[in-house]
Amino acid sequence: MTSADLPALVCSAKGCTAPAVWVLAWNNPKLHTPERRKTWLACDEHREHLSSFLGVRGFLKDVVTTAEWEARQRGDAS
Ligand SMILES: [Zn+2]
Repeated sequence: MTSADLPALVCSAKGCTAPAVWVLAWNNPKLHTPERRKTWLACDEHREHLSSFLGVRGFLKDVVTTAEWEARQRGDAS
């Protein structure tokens, strides 16, 4: 039996328990400094819904796969 270092990533959409495959990085300029990134997780089904929610508010900065996000957190933060 192996246990992963990372907790299971679950979609942030309300009521959804699907595994997340996307990370939506966002920033609310009224609350956060410009370099700050909040993250939401999304399954395939909810990626568009969540990203448009953030997008219309002008908060959405980036949408990447969870694998890509983890790689960024590990290494090269430039
Ligand atoms: Zn979902």
